[in-house]
Amino acid sequence: MSAAPVFVPNHPLLKHHLAALRDAATPPATFRALVRHLSQLLFYEAARDLRLRPVTVKTPMAECPAERLADRVGLVPVLRAGLGMADAMLDLLPEASVWHLGLYRDHATLKPVTYYNKLPANHGLDVGIVLDPMLATGGSANEAIRILKRAGVPRVTFVGLIAAPEGVAAVQADHPDVPLYLAAVDDELNDIGYILPGLGDAGDRQFGTTC
Ligand code: URA
Repeated sequence: MSAAPVFVPNHPLLKHHLAALRDAATPPATFRALVRHLSQLLFYEAARDLRLRPVTVKTPMAECPAERLADRVGLVPVLRAGLGMADAMLDLLPEASVWHLGLYRDHATLKPVTYYNKLPANHGLDVGIVLDPMLATGGSANEAIRILKRAGVPRVTFVGLIAAPEGVAAVQADHPDVPLYLAAVDDELNDIGYILPGLGDAGDRQFGTTC
């Protein structure tokens, strides 16, 4: 199976906000606002394939054929850095469900371990969108996607802000059916798994916990 596409929209607004997001001088409040803008721009792209159903609405003037979303969408923020992305997307699609997923990397095995999982048993969803601003090694993304598939979510998509080529390759190897929506694919990972040039720690920068 050839891998699903990696979408990196070539859009001036995306590049403009990403430059400010990367800047080490950007304070947390501005950083959070930028995460919102970028997430909404990427969600607009990632939502392109959602299915519609025909409806009829009554305008003040007449009846009018229209369309509404048929797909039920679940936003799956990987804690904690994905939280700002989910919030931004809920503005555009308030009826989406939000499944919080907490993953950390075990130092001994280097494997992702789930410490929090709010996936309901009978979810009834059609599409699950995994949200993590930084696609670094791909370990957490792969685990999150695996959890959604095991829960029976028919279509899974990943939305991130910045990826390392290593992370993209890891997800494409394990989940070739999952499209990736990103604002940028950077140069490489450093030896402690940070993306270069990246933006540092996306969680710390959103929540003001940088030392
Ligand atoms: N997580 C981050 O927050 N930043 C990186 O560069 C890699 C993983």
